[in-house]
Amino acid sequence: MSDEPTKLADGMTSVSRQRATVLGHVCERKGCIRYAGFGFARPGQEPHWFCFEHRGDGERYL
Ligand SMILES: [Zn+2]
Repeated sequence: MSDEPTKLADGMTSVSRQRATVLGHVCERKGCIRYAGFGFARPGQEPHWFCFEHRGDGERYL
């Protein structure tokens, strides 16, 4: 028997996404799992994160 929690139960989607989550942020474009190195935010608001390819999407949050 093991007391180790079954973390994989609710995280079966993508290893890549989990890796990127550890690194920091994942692109918010639907279906994109790339690491998001570009953050967009107005002062006092939650930032939105996008990868290099989709960083244009973030400009509408500025
Ligand atoms: Zn992307």
